[in-house]
Amino acid sequence: MTVRADVAELLRAGYGDRTIARQAGVTLGSVTRARAELGLPKARGGIKGAGSPEDLFWQRVKPVDGDHLEWTGHRNGKGTPTLHWKRDNYSAYRLAFQIRHGHEPKGYAFVTCEHEGCVAPGHIGDSAVTARPAHHRGAIGRKPNGTREEIVALLKEGLSDKQIGNRLRTNPKRVSKIRAEEQVPAVVPVALTFAEQWAMHTEPVDGGHVRWTGRFRGDSPAVTDAGRTISVRRAAFERLHGRPPVGPAAPGCGYGPCVRPEHLEDRAIRQRTNSLYDAIFRAEAA
Ligand SMILES: [Zn+2]
Ligand SMILES: [Zn+2]
Repeated sequence: MTVRADVAELLRAGYGDRTIARQAGVTLGSVTRARAELGLPKARGGIKGAGSPEDLFWQRVKPVDGDHLEWTGHRNGKGTPTLHWKRDNYSAYRLAFQIRHGHEPKGYAFVTCEHEGCVAPGHIGDSAVTARPAHHRGAIGRKPNGTREEIVALLKEGLSDKQIGNRLRTNPKRVSKIRAEEQVPAVVPVALTFAEQWAMHTEPVDGGHVRWTGRFRGDSPAVTDAGRTISVRRAAFERLHGRPPVGPAAPGCGYGPCVRPEHLEDRAIRQRTNSLYDAIFRAEAA
């Protein structure tokens, strides 16, 4: 068998089979066979195991176009995406809701977008405000359509016409009409926050470094934030230091691909470090 170049590269970089399979979009079995083919030992250490069900959630998703996240993990008999962590089963929908809102969903958690298999935290709602979605239509006590009050409440929550239509089983055109009457501005679909993209696209590396697994602009890790492409290193630096970097933010730790905020230096930090060295060496020379 021939080993794909990207798989070979990840194998040689010391990643585990599971991580490589997820990243390269191939089966676990094919990675294991590729490892044997290249005569490489089993990976160990390096990548930390999941520290929480939320960690595990991020390991079981695959970003796709339109800011959706496809679930790559297990589904139970009812088709609900689930994961197993420390002897407990968790619903990926509930975890996603918790990640986005910081609290447990009230009632049921369900997908509000139309992308098959999506578990994106921004695309999961709960039944606190509204009735359950289409496939639960037969449930007892379920009204056929949303009331105007329900629609207005969801409009004010920032849902799109289509999302509200899906949730309330009502025509998005009716929602659009009420939106105009209530003068609620149209919404753009909820995008992932920087923190969510960070959690999704970073991996710890031996030596306390962090590696970027997401997209790049040129050779710089990049994400889309509020519709703009921004540098991951600049954003991470600013979040840690509370100020934007002066000049480029680059790893000062010796690990070239590093994006760990604590390992990033800007011109101001580099100059301070240099003058500190100069002062030490001048003092020694005197
Ligand atoms: Zn989605
Ligand atoms: Zn580092």
